[in-house]
Amino acid sequence: MTMKKKMAVKVSNFTPAEERAARSERIEVNEAEPYGWIARSESATEQGYHLFREPRTKRLSCTCADFVFRGNAEPGYECKHVSAVLKYIGRRYLAEEYDPQRQRAQAA
Ligand SMILES: [Zn+2]
Repeated sequence: MTMKKKMAVKVSNFTPAEERAARSERIEVNEAEPYGWIARSESATEQGYHLFREPRTKRLSCTCADFVFRGNAEPGYECKHVSAVLKYIGRRYLAEEYDPQRQRAQAA
């Protein structure tokens, strides 16, 4: 077996249908008043969920059932809304705040 073939083997706990669903689902993120973000699936009829930074852990917290139930069992769990908001924040940061000069100063 070649190296290439080995790397092509996928390790996943999801069925192909679940993977398709996860890829095709797009989540729209908007800033919320007075703080945090609202995330909602473009396709779904579900209402948006409110996300905010938890002051103690400094991590994002989501109001969806998935986050509330799985998050309690697995600290650091990220639901799809948390992932979407992290991407949103990352893009905003790169576009508006990222400063290579400052990064170099911190590294030095
Ligand atoms: Zn969520």
